[in-house]
Amino acid sequence: MTAVIAGRKLTAGYGPVPAVVDIDIEVNPGEVVALLGANGAGKTTTLMALAGAVPVSSGDVLWDGLNTHAPLSRRARMGMSLVTEERSTFAGLTVRQNLRIAHCEIEEVVRQYPELAGHLERKVGLLSGGQQQILALARALSRKPHALLADELSLGLAPQIVSRLLAAVRTAADQGVAVLLVEQHVHKALKIADRVCILRQGRIDWTGTVSEAQAMRSEIEESYLTGRKAGGSNESADLAR
Ligand code: ATP
Repeated sequence: MTAVIAGRKLTAGYGPVPAVVDIDIEVNPGEVVALLGANGAGKTTTLMALAGAVPVSSGDVLWDGLNTHAPLSRRARMGMSLVTEERSTFAGLTVRQNLRIAHCEIEEVVRQYPELAGHLERKVGLLSGGQQQILALARALSRKPHALLADELSLGLAPQIVSRLLAAVRTAADQGVAVLLVEQHVHKALKIADRVCILRQGRIDWTGTVSEAQAMRSEIEESYLTGRKAGGSNESADLAR
């Protein structure tokens, strides 16, 4: 199977010192890959380098198996959707107007996201953060993307909304979308992911299936929360497997 989006030996960052180094990652159609790591490990940089929003100094980004240097806007036209914690919606316009601008089929959106039904004529700026993010996700997914890159889309939102957003992400994957998910709620991310990649200090430190990750969740959580190697050198070797 050809990955929808992949990084090969990807090195990227913001200046002379790269923030991420030699990243090998791929996301296949229909799967959710959770990208985990402590603060500053390089999750956003990896995702943005794949999106074409952060300069790549070496290595390749592959889209449908072909090397791409396209900027973010062109990758979006190629079928990539990016959702960040910044809720890409127009606060001064109504929900309906936001959906129209994104060429969404309003009835279909309301069917999939019934929580928006009673708010179509409200200005988005008056919605709760969770409702705004559901709208942002609805807009991103209504374009029927091939890949969804989601960076902390649930940041600062109530647990119920986080679960709702991640359920919508899983549904999109089940319909064939390749999803790369950066998510602070590790437990919830593992519930909807198929595979996991853990970054440490700008490098991929561990990759595995979600069941392998579940089996060593305490080590992963310690690693995720603290940024330290979990336990002694033996466990470090396990993580680096
Ligand atoms: P967090 O969970 O805190 O969001 P992260 O894993 O997403 O962290 P990145 O945001 O990718 O990590 O940051 C990786 C490294 O790049 C960090 O050392 C960070 O300080 C640095 N960095 C991030 N953004 C910039 C920027 N715009 N300019 C310079 N350095 C940056």
